[in-house]
Amino acid sequence: MEILNLDRLSKNYGKIQALNQVSFSVPKGSVFGILGPNGSGKTTLLGIIMDILKSSGGSFTLFDEVPTEKTRQRIGTLLETPNFYHYLSAVQNLKIVAAIKQKDESDIERVLEIVNLIQRKDSAFSTYSLGMKQRLAIAAALLGNPEVLVLDEPTNGLDPVGIAEIRALIMKLANEGKTIIMASHMLDEVEKVCTHVAILKYGQLITHGDVNEILVNEDVVEVSSNNLEQLKNLLIQFPGNVNVYLKENTVQVNFQPGSANLEEINKYCFERSVVLSHLQLKKKSLESKFLELTN
Ligand code: ATP
Repeated sequence: MEILNLDRLSKNYGKIQALNQVSFSVPKGSVFGILGPNGSGKTTLLGIIMDILKSSGGSFTLFDEVPTEKTRQRIGTLLETPNFYHYLSAVQNLKIVAAIKQKDESDIERVLEIVNLIQRKDSAFSTYSLGMKQRLAIAAALLGNPEVLVLDEPTNGLDPVGIAEIRALIMKLANEGKTIIMASHMLDEVEKVCTHVAILKYGQLITHGDVNEILVNEDVVEVSSNNLEQLKNLLIQFPGNVNVYLKENTVQVNFQPGSANLEEINKYCFERSVVLSHLQLKKKSLESKFLELTN
C-alpha cells in the first residue's frame, strides 16, 4: 500500500506556479522528507494533501483511495504553529484540541507520555521552552493515534537541543511504524532522519527516492589535458565512474565515496596516449550536492 501518491499535482497562485506537475509516492513506514529552499512549494503541497488548499491540476490518493474526510482522519498534522492558550496547561490545551478534532480525551496522557511532557502536563503553556511547545504541538497531532503524521518544518526556530529532541521523537515514532511526511529546508535534518526524499525547486520536482541513493557524498576527480573533449570521452569508459562532465577547463569524474583511484586514472590515460596536465581529488559534500541540485 502507498500512503500518498501524487500524480502530476500542480498549483498556481495567479501567475506564480507554486507546484508544477509533481509526481511521487510515499511508501508505508517511511520518513519522507520534502526538501527545498524557501518558496519551493512544500507548504503548498502539504496544504493540498490536507484539503486546506485546492490544486490547479493533477490528482493524488491517500492510502490508495480518493481522499475523503475519513481518509484524512488517519493523518495527524502539524502545519502551522498551533494557537495554544498561554495560561492553560498542556492537558487543558489538549482537551480543547481533542474537542475540536473530535478525538477522545482519554488519549491525552498517552500522547503527553510519548512527547515526554508528562511531568510538566499541568504547567501553564507560557512556562514552556520553545522545544516543549513544539513537542506539545506534535502531541496534539498524535491524538487519536493516526497512522501518518504530516509535519511542516517541525524544527523551525528551535535551538540545537530542541532540534535534537524533535529529531529523536520523529525517529521513535517511525520505529513504532508510523509514516511521517515532513517538509524541511534543511538538508542536514532530512539526511539525519529521513528514509526517503523529494527535492523541490520553484515547484518543480528535481529528484526523489531513497535518501541513501540521492543524498550520498561523492568523490570528484578533476582532470585536464590539452584536449578536453577527447579526455572526457576517454574517461566515460573508465570503470567505476558515476558521472563524467565538463566544468570550466576541466573534466569532472564522479565516483562513489572512497572509490576514486588517482594512480589508476593517470595510468589509464597515459596508456591511451593522453597526458594529464592536472589531476586532483575533491570530496563533494552533501551541501554542495544539494546546492547543485537546487541551483
Ligand atoms: P517556505 O518554507 O518559505 O514556507 P515553501 O517551500 O513551503 O516555502 P510555499 O509556501 O508553498 O513554499 O510557496 C511556494 C510559492 O507560492 C512561493 O513563490 C510563494 O510566494 C507562493 N505562494 C504561497 N502561498 C501563496 C498565496 N496564498 N498567494 C500567492 N502566492 C503564494
